[in-house]
Amino acid sequence: MKNWEAKLREITPYVPGEQPDFADMVKLNTNENPYPPAPGVARTMAELSAGKLSLYPNPEAKPLVEQLSKTYGIEADRIFVGVGSDDVLGMIFLSCFCSERPILFPDITYSFYDVWADLFRIPFTRVPLDENFRIRKEDYFVENGGIVIANPNAPTSVAMDLSEIEEIVRHNQDSIVVIDEAYVDFGGESALPLLDRYENLLVVQTFSKSRSMAGMRIGYAFGSKRVISAIYAVRNSYNSYTMNYPSILCGAEALKDEAYFAGTTKKIIATRERVKQEFSGLGFSFPDSKTNFLFATHESVPAEEIFTMLREKHIFVRYFKKPRIDNYLRITIGTDEQMDRLIGALKEYLDAKN
Ligand SMILES: *Cc1c(COP(=O)(O)O)cnc(C)c1O
Repeated sequence: MKNWEAKLREITPYVPGEQPDFADMVKLNTNENPYPPAPGVARTMAELSAGKLSLYPNPEAKPLVEQLSKTYGIEADRIFVGVGSDDVLGMIFLSCFCSERPILFPDITYSFYDVWADLFRIPFTRVPLDENFRIRKEDYFVENGGIVIANPNAPTSVAMDLSEIEEIVRHNQDSIVVIDEAYVDFGGESALPLLDRYENLLVVQTFSKSRSMAGMRIGYAFGSKRVISAIYAVRNSYNSYTMNYPSILCGAEALKDEAYFAGTTKKIIATRERVKQEFSGLGFSFPDSKTNFLFATHESVPAEEIFTMLREKHIFVRYFKKPRIDNYLRITIGTDEQMDRLIGALKEYLDAKN
């Protein structure tokens, strides 16, 4: 080992789902939206001026923040925006979890949480979900340095009632409680109504799933003025221009089209409910998803075998080789046609085995 190598940071990074690129593929592995963004986004992109790229973007991402404020009815100084909710969550970890006590999150949840904790040297405790992959609220009624809960949770797809979320926030008024609502638009209950009562609450959402804009990288958090300004102070001590000019304008435009958003979300929910029926008939079981994916296990065929079989047919789903969930597949809800191709491939394989 060279001397300078001892000075390098060693860390095990988060591994995102793969982004294969085949013309014939069915991509159901990263919970992207199968529908394009609202039509106004394409129009805004076409009207962008390349000449403007010589200037720095608005450091407060004003058009985007103002539209978020209008859409959600929350004051602009209570909104933090970032480069996807990954950036937002990372900044929250860095600015809100500065105690010696461990932060708490479920043992099975978004696998970036423990990576940020490692990166920022934040102590953490993984709290086991119960045997039905449910979060037990009482487990969070203990001293801690902060709490992070994805609701609905990923990759389990299980949602918690707002009353239970409120109990967790109420029992933890000495900590920041972060609710990651990446999937809430597909049938979960948002914690936004609690914001006026709890200054220690942060609600994080994203444009990547329900708004069909994963490629734009836009995420945001709502919280109290005090907490939001603390997060901005940290961000501005690191990189003050995170939001680029195209995403500021396209993000604002996407929010304006509420009818399109409601329509695509409704279609995905309808497809999900149909796929639940079909999957039960094929011998799969899964928690009752409130997200744009199913977390499914088969009664006789191992998940990894199904994953590999589908992959060969260019149907991509997600498989996590991890304790407790290594016999499950996380399958994004695509269009009806995509799901029919998936179901066709599964039927053919399972029939041939019997
Ligand atoms: C997808 C996802 C995110 C991050 O998405 P961005 O694309 O960075 O906005 C955050 N949390 C959960 C639980 C997710 O599934």
